[in-house]
Amino acid sequence: MTRYPHMLAPITLGTVPLRNRVMMGSMHTGLEEAGDWDRVAAFYAARAQGGAGLIVTGGVAPNREGGVFPGAAGLYTLHDIANHRRVTDRVHAEGGRIVMQILHAGRYAFSPDCVSASAVKSPISPFPPHALDEAGIEKQITDIATAATRAIEAGYDGVEVMGSEGYLLNQFLVRHVNRREDHWGGSFENRMRLPVEVVRRVRAAIGEAILIFRISLVDLVPDGSIWGEVVTLAKTVEAAGASALNSGIGWHEARVPTIATSVPRAAFADLTARLRPEVGIPVIASNRINMPEVAEGLLASGMADMVSMARPFLADPDFVAKAAAGQARLIAPCIACNQACLDHIYAGKLTSCLVNPRACHETELTITPAAASRRIAVVGAGPAGLAAALTAAGRGHGVTLIDRAARVGGQLHLATAVPGKEEFRSLIDWFEAQLEASSIELRLGTEATAEMLAGFDAVVLATGITPRSAGIVGEDAPQVLGYREVLRGVPVGCRAAVIGAGGIGFDVAEFLVHAGESPALHPDLWRREWGVGDPRETPGGLAPEGPRPEAPAREVWLLQRKPEKPGRKLGRTTGWIHRAALQMKGVKMLGGVRYDAVTPEGLAITLDGQPQLLSVDTVVICAGQEPDRALVPALEMAGVELHIIGGADVAAELDAKRAIDQGTRLAARL
Ligand code: NAP
Ligand code: SF4
Repeated sequence: MTRYPHMLAPITLGTVPLRNRVMMGSMHTGLEEAGDWDRVAAFYAARAQGGAGLIVTGGVAPNREGGVFPGAAGLYTLHDIANHRRVTDRVHAEGGRIVMQILHAGRYAFSPDCVSASAVKSPISPFPPHALDEAGIEKQITDIATAATRAIEAGYDGVEVMGSEGYLLNQFLVRHVNRREDHWGGSFENRMRLPVEVVRRVRAAIGEAILIFRISLVDLVPDGSIWGEVVTLAKTVEAAGASALNSGIGWHEARVPTIATSVPRAAFADLTARLRPEVGIPVIASNRINMPEVAEGLLASGMADMVSMARPFLADPDFVAKAAAGQARLIAPCIACNQACLDHIYAGKLTSCLVNPRACHETELTITPAAASRRIAVVGAGPAGLAAALTAAGRGHGVTLIDRAARVGGQLHLATAVPGKEEFRSLIDWFEAQLEASSIELRLGTEATAEMLAGFDAVVLATGITPRSAGIVGEDAPQVLGYREVLRGVPVGCRAAVIGAGGIGFDVAEFLVHAGESPALHPDLWRREWGVGDPRETPGGLAPEGPRPEAPAREVWLLQRKPEKPGRKLGRTTGWIHRAALQMKGVKMLGGVRYDAVTPEGLAITLDGQPQLLSVDTVVICAGQEPDRALVPALEMAGVELHIIGGADVAAELDAKRAIDQGTRLAARL
């Protein structure tokens, strides 16, 4: 008997049967634009093989003006159709189903040729759009219907029409972008004419194939849709031929996080549940659903007919297969960090995944049985050492993993203490579950020595880092603490200065201003903190009173020497969330600081040439790290085959993404 009977139950969309209720949601990977279609096919085939009931591709533009950026994936020529056919054939060979998402970016297109309902520029784009005329609107509809026809020719089981997240169809729905006075603007009936007409024409183009409409349940922007309009659109789109409604949450320009790790799990599923009784077609819940028990809970309680997960299928292509086999603990968890997926895309890099470096690299990073089994010692059970040990053992090597700590996980434990980073706990749990299922000999509470390591065929040193001193006069005073002590719970006074505003400085500041329960674990608290209201009461679902965070637990200064705004180097898609969260808590973030001395009165600094005293009772040093390579000289003397990875290799800009990637890649070739 499975623990996930609802999740694994079949469902039919229109006339198309699916093997279960788990949909891999649309996700831009960059693979299509790279043009290596074997790689695209391998990526989706792995997810179909891993049991996804339905896959939605990354957004495919219906025409040049609708592409999110110049050169974005499209389906224009016979050659394109043949490429997409390679994908659909591979997915079908694995028993899967796949639909193509048609995404017209409208004014979000990063191009001077972008179009929209009216010439109203988006706050996140430098390009004002051209307002479409009647012929222009007809062209967009025709192009979308043509793309749908081509999708069917390419073997897709249907299409998803992107109608949410602030893209073109969503732009027509709301008055703050749609200022038209013709029959495409004004009344709601007119504003929804474009999405409804698109659905009607796509349905006519694709016969009985699947047609999912992604509907914005809450826009989270001023002057967005109200709930009555959402329901009217849902019913009209159903009547126009949609087979299912997928949940869209928040426009891209919204200043409310919707998928980051600090967003509570399934935070928006109540809106999907509210829509469900209004329509007769299946509704699909989305956003921050990352574990089978979360999915099962939503489906079992009748909140949705299906669940959509995008990033979790980067983390683990075998999500469904492992859940079905009673191996849920072995599912690599998506911790919603965005570090290797969305942040890569915005940096023009191919998508990967922090917990699964093979994501989108299936054909390049292959892990095969070792030609000969060797005895390998891995020193350090942080993310780099764990990834190396597990990969090496998986290839058939005899692996011993040694750490002086009593638990595995290294610095990941520190992250779990930060409010909004609780998901890192699931990453440690996953490593522990894999260790239990492996042949690895685990020696915790053990200080590795060169003598102990002498008999191994190879030694992997993943001993991590030591925190860097800031070298400030008075730094050895008792009121000066390291970030590790603070995150482990050493008491901090009511006024604290954090020295260093990198990722860890921000985390520590977040830790210091919070008291009590983390909002990430309490959806009501979290909604209040970010000003999320009820779309039945306010347009766009923004609370009229705005964000109402809890009072800060203490007064905090976050400092750096660089003369720029702190936090500029944080992740592209999450940095603004960290900055906004600290601003809401009144944290004073200062760049261009010179540290003069720690004194009994506080921290003496110079800012803009003026000496100042921050009268704080605690100073926390978050000044980066240095590699810990204490064992290297003795091991080199002993002549052992030595590999250094993670922070022990390069401490600068180390994060779990680089650590896991490096550990996995090393072990794949040992
Ligand atoms: P970091 O990002 O290198 O930041 C170190 C900070 O210390 C900088 O603000 C730097 O700014 C300051 N600093 C450096 N040398 C100093 C000195 N001698 N005296 C005083 N200040 C000094 O390192 P981290 O914050 O320890 O983070 C380590 C890694 O973990 C980073 O790669 C980070 O990306 C990652 N991480 C990421 C996240 C995330 O949310 N994505 C969270 C935590 C950690 P100035 O030189 O301008 O003073
Ligand atoms: Fe999830 Fe982070 Fe992997 Fe992206 S990089 S899929 S957010 S774990």
